[in-house]
Amino acid sequence: MEITIESLSLEDLKVKYSSDEELGFGQVFTDRMFIVNYEEDQWKIPRIVKYDNIELNPSAVCLHYGQTIFEGQKAYRTPEGNLNLFRLDKNIERFNSSARRLVMPEIDEELYRTGLITLLKLEKDWAPKKLGSSLYIRPTMIATTPMLGLRTAQDFIFYIILSPSGPYFPEGFQCVNIYVSENYIRAAPGGMGNVKTGGNYAASLLVTAEATRKGFNQVLWLDAIHKRYIEEVGAMNIFFIIDDEIFTPPLSGTILPGITRESILTLANDSGYYVREKALSIDFVIESIGNGSLTECFAAGTAASVAPIGSLYYQDKSYMINKSTVGPISKLLYTNLIDIQYGRKEDPYGWIETII
Ligand SMILES: *Cc1c(COP(=O)(O)O)cnc(C)c1O
Repeated sequence: MEITIESLSLEDLKVKYSSDEELGFGQVFTDRMFIVNYEEDQWKIPRIVKYDNIELNPSAVCLHYGQTIFEGQKAYRTPEGNLNLFRLDKNIERFNSSARRLVMPEIDEELYRTGLITLLKLEKDWAPKKLGSSLYIRPTMIATTPMLGLRTAQDFIFYIILSPSGPYFPEGFQCVNIYVSENYIRAAPGGMGNVKTGGNYAASLLVTAEATRKGFNQVLWLDAIHKRYIEEVGAMNIFFIIDDEIFTPPLSGTILPGITRESILTLANDSGYYVREKALSIDFVIESIGNGSLTECFAAGTAASVAPIGSLYYQDKSYMINKSTVGPISKLLYTNLIDIQYGRKEDPYGWIETII
């Protein structure tokens, strides 16, 4: 596959950040991006160009009707200075499943893969070095056809941008506090909860802002119908350890099928834990915290890998889990996962591709 690579002048190159800690998340972007247009039923010539504003017609479909999808993945720096990708095939597969749901064209695996790897090779110096920090990767597709009639567009842009990001836990691996949303839901059966499309996240902003204002880190979503069954936390899947067994809600169609979730299930199983995909009600969870059978709870997603949960706030009461400290199983699974991602331990699963 031929990619046109624009040469950048010295003035186009940005001054790089000076420490991994100052990066935060998703605020700094590298010099270049990968971009390809879809017109007349086909993907045109892919290009790597300067990271810059893109031009859109004010009536572009994506701006009005939310025909947008994205992925979230990371490149991890190994102790030897190489860059690892984690389960790239899964991100491509999920991106195309999002594309089908939003009636957008699928991306050839080769176009996504080669575009991303070529971009990463050019931008490798932007990848932070500290454990926990990473080069965040955001593949995106938007509908660009200028029209206000509500139908699917014919023109699209697929692009990939890269953002060096600092550690999720700048003060060390510690618990987050969660606000259980009672009145707002994230996704209903038949909706779009299982795909990464902009509208899902727009719908979450109001209650997330309320939770943040009250001092919580994230929102826990309950199911749309009964407002009882636990779905997920923010943009992460959730796990509970009850009587030494590991529980996570099943992929019912309303939650996002996390790649971290799937990996945690494998790691937990291979560490000898009994893992169960089972719908759990918030009442059962609170009762289990009360009687001491629920000993740990954590969220899992690309952002944090594993984020231990120290408390749940539900109906004006706070329920503390494991005295708000990181439990041993959460810690073990976190370590096993990041050791593979960061190339500090051999990967027995074939999850890692070392690209540079
Ligand atoms: C991306 C995402 C996840 C986690 O998926 P990973 O592949 O593990 O990063 C979970 N929930 C939501 C809502 C998400 O957007």
